[in-house]
Amino acid sequence: MKIFFAELITETNTFVSTPTGADAYLVNHGDASTADPEGMGALLAAWRRMAEADGHEIVEGLCAYAQPAGATVQVVYDGFAEEILAGIRQAMPLGAVLLFLHGAMVAESIDDCEGDLLQRVRTLVGPDVAIGVELDLHCHFTERMRAAADVIVCFKEYPHIDGLDRAREVYDLTMRTVRREIRPTTATHDCRMVGLWHTTREPMIGFVERMKALEGRDGVLSVSFGHGFPWGDTADSGGKVWAITDGDADQAARLAATLGRELWAIRDAARPVNNTIDEAIDQALSRPGGPHVFADVADNPGGGAPSDSTFILRALVERGIGDVAIGAFWDIGAIQICREAGVGARFDLRVGGKVSKASGDPLDLTVTVRAIDEAHWQSSQGMRGPMGTGVWIATDDGIDILLASARDQVIGTDAFTNLGIDLATKKIVVVKSTQHFHAEYAPIAAAVHYVSTPGAITPDFAHIPYRKRSLEYWPRVADPFASLA
Ligand SMILES: [Zn+2]
Repeated sequence: MKIFFAELITETNTFVSTPTGADAYLVNHGDASTADPEGMGALLAAWRRMAEADGHEIVEGLCAYAQPAGATVQVVYDGFAEEILAGIRQAMPLGAVLLFLHGAMVAESIDDCEGDLLQRVRTLVGPDVAIGVELDLHCHFTERMRAAADVIVCFKEYPHIDGLDRAREVYDLTMRTVRREIRPTTATHDCRMVGLWHTTREPMIGFVERMKALEGRDGVLSVSFGHGFPWGDTADSGGKVWAITDGDADQAARLAATLGRELWAIRDAARPVNNTIDEAIDQALSRPGGPHVFADVADNPGGGAPSDSTFILRALVERGIGDVAIGAFWDIGAIQICREAGVGARFDLRVGGKVSKASGDPLDLTVTVRAIDEAHWQSSQGMRGPMGTGVWIATDDGIDILLASARDQVIGTDAFTNLGIDLATKKIVVVKSTQHFHAEYAPIAAAVHYVSTPGAITPDFAHIPYRKRSLEYWPRVADPFASLA
């Protein structure tokens, strides 16, 4: 059998004015799984291994990934969609199409890019070709996606440590569909909730286990909880549960609603706890040992934030606190100045606070350039990502600052250590990440503190200024289901 697969990934923050254009995308035209199997092609490489082991013929299409920012420029999305469709058209007849998509991609005139793409793929291949899709859990799961695909599975874990496990499930369920062993039937429950759900602690650890325990028995093929992406303003944003059963629509609807009610019941306990900057610093200083890892959750470029906000750095400088590592600041001007000055140079440098109002004010610091790496990178969970030019600058008071020319959230400890920054000796390590840092940083941390700053994606879910999505959601209203009664 012939299988086509492709990948198109970005998560659009519709409140960010910066467009996501062609240059923002890393693009491979059909060889990502072999050219970059530990990076952007990792999931395609997994599907390739599975399909080759089963003796299938593979046709690989576009692989495109952009760090989240504002809406994707329309012609850029149109070009990507056309390339994927052209690849399928050329490869037909096909037995199956496998797509790795984000689920929260918005283009200038399309709020549901994945639904648009899947509908066009379905129209092209017809009703008899199985379509399997893997999504990020920060997706806006839509009726258009559900209707177009046979199997849609999203990550269960945040941080997303289970991408390969879910890829295996998508592959297996799609192949069983091709063999007519199963008839995947999907029903959705709208949780009417907006938020973030960390699966690194209870009660979400238990909820993930509960979902897994349901699968593979009593006709239940797969269960997903799409957390939604809070900073994507579309009619479909927010938490959704969907269940896939073997041909039983009522069973799927009942199960999705049951799990939705269970999530509702644990909503307060599952809510992440955020500290103010001073609370987090006070807690770190009052306890022995380190490093205390601070997540600068509101300036996470993985959610579309600029990654150059100075709120935490300013507080540390003003309180005279040393033994700190902080990053990564996306500050291309400062990097260029450090390049010109060279390693060892000590001078006054303006750091951060440049991209937007959410960046805060820049900081003027006396720094020494400790290291420069023109091909800096980081890794997490066996996957590796480029950070562009990485620069280590140090203040006289012992604050080590990481600058990076690629706007990317810090997820690997090697984002610092590859430049020579020793995290083990630090009292405080600040990472511009909301939760993905957790997989690699929790094992080295004395404690993890989620720090709320006034940045671009501040986690004040009750007050996100939505225009398109209904305002009937928790925590904006106490009971968004009351109006249904
Ligand atoms: Zn995500």
